[in-house]
Amino acid sequence: MLGDQLTREVGPLVERPEERVVLVEAREFARRHPYHPHKLTLVFSAMRHFRDRLRADGRTVDYYTVETFREGFEAHFDAHPDDTVVAMEPASHGAAAGLREAAQAAGGSIDLVENDLFLCDAESFDDWAGDGRLRHEDFYRFMRRRTGYLMEDGDPAGGEWNYDDQNRETPPDGWSPPEPPVFEPDALTQEVNEWVEDEFAGGYDEPPYGGAWADPEEFRWPVTRRGACRALDDFVTTRLAEFGDYQDAMLEEEWALCHSLISTSLHLGLLHPREVIERAVTAYREESAPLHCIEGFVRQVLGWREFLRHVYRREMPGLATANQLDAEADLPDFYWTGDTDMACLSDVVDGVRQRGYSHHIERLMILSNFALIYGVEPAQLNEWFHASYVDAFHWITTPNVVEMGMFGAGVFATKPYAASANYIDGMSDYCSGCPYYKTKTTGEGACPFNTFYWDFLDRNEDSLRSNHRMGLVYNHLDNKDDEELTAIRERADDLRERARESEL
Ligand SMILES: Cc1cc2nc3c(=O)[nH]c(=O)nc-3n(C[C@H](O)[C@H](O)[C@H](O)COP(=O)(O)OP(=O)(O)OC[C@H]3O[C@@H](n4cnc5c(N)ncnc54)[C@H](O)[C@@H]3O)c2cc1C
Ligand code: SF4
Repeated sequence: MLGDQLTREVGPLVERPEERVVLVEAREFARRHPYHPHKLTLVFSAMRHFRDRLRADGRTVDYYTVETFREGFEAHFDAHPDDTVVAMEPASHGAAAGLREAAQAAGGSIDLVENDLFLCDAESFDDWAGDGRLRHEDFYRFMRRRTGYLMEDGDPAGGEWNYDDQNRETPPDGWSPPEPPVFEPDALTQEVNEWVEDEFAGGYDEPPYGGAWADPEEFRWPVTRRGACRALDDFVTTRLAEFGDYQDAMLEEEWALCHSLISTSLHLGLLHPREVIERAVTAYREESAPLHCIEGFVRQVLGWREFLRHVYRREMPGLATANQLDAEADLPDFYWTGDTDMACLSDVVDGVRQRGYSHHIERLMILSNFALIYGVEPAQLNEWFHASYVDAFHWITTPNVVEMGMFGAGVFATKPYAASANYIDGMSDYCSGCPYYKTKTTGEGACPFNTFYWDFLDRNEDSLRSNHRMGLVYNHLDNKDDEELTAIRERADDLRERARESEL
């Protein structure tokens, strides 16, 4: 069992009920990136809980605590030389080859079988994709038809495939969402957490990290199947009914809004996407939540999550370093430290430092939007996301960051998600408390998002002007005279200098 396949519901464990189970806790993985300690606690604690659960079920579990996978295999094949290890194909690029090599080097072998933790297998995706351009909306409809979820007599429930236009509200004054559940660390998780702090979290006090993980809040994520089911249940019964309306909203005082907070449970295998979607579809049948909220949620799990897994599979290894706009700037240190006067960025980064999470629109329209218009090299932002988020796994982080966020490859993104303060002010309450002026583009105090937004369009004109979806914004750029463009360029240079000096 790999650490992100912790399921007793599908896969080799179910098909081979009498076989011994092997789990390898390889620490080398944890040293590869400056990971948020909660990410490491999450994975190691979930593995150890899973081990104990299986043993309580009466299964034999060999749990190897080693530095590398190879050492784990050596220990195993020394004790059981005739074994062939069977595991589900890992989703991250290179992991399958790494496992095969490690098993072979240890004198054994490994059989990798279909990964049952997804709804669309590689063959079905490739048949659907053919040689055409990959479009998420087409794939999503294909999956709706294929599974029958939210379909009525062959048509989409309610008559529309997609209710995204109803998913862009901002909450009224005084609104607050139900509190998300907290999964207080039990003794085992506390032990893992302390060990992680001692073993891995030190050494991040110097630039660029600047003590990024010095003082997180208490670990709060589910690490067992039971906890994951409670998280799903809590979401469906208390927050799904408003999920859609406020999906794109951002509030300084509300980090979770009505998001489900189940990404970690899905990616570890504690929840299967099928049961997650079926809970939402049942809510539709029972009329306990509006269709646009349910459809919006189903689209994320049935559509985006499955789609990006296959985009990643097909586009790696090139996707990880794709950089079609030739962006070369270094990631500013404030992504690690949160030390910036920009109210939106400082709050979102602070949330990531606290709990290794921010919701989708904060990731897309604050963190990656800023990096995009500033001109950060996409791979550097990917590395930051990968290290900082509890739900970051290379197969899902990379297409989101490099393609969706940074327009790195142009595989499925048809235009960059670049936006100025106008968008952020419309969807959040950040700008009113910010020392920068949301309506100014140049001059002292002008919002950096505004300056960099126009500078980005100007800098990338050769690549982007011919994109028909960018026509309107280039018309606006054309309305700016030479004097204004010069002022934008000068201010952008000045802001970059300040960012490098940690004075933005
Ligand atoms: C720049 C950037 C980086 C991201 N990095 C990650 C990452 O490392 N790991 C990760 O799981 N997600 C990532 N996402 C996608 C998305 O932001 C998270 O899945 C979501 O915020 C997780 O919180 P939630 O469980 O509360 O999700 P909800 O908003 O409640 O959505 C429900 C579920 O839908 C799925 N989902 C939603 N959006 C996406 C998406 N864009 N791609 C794939 N699945 C999606 C997730 O499984 C999620 O749990 C990233 C998005 C962007 C723009
Ligand atoms: S004014 Fe600019 S920097 Fe400040 S919160 Fe608004 S968008 Fe962010």
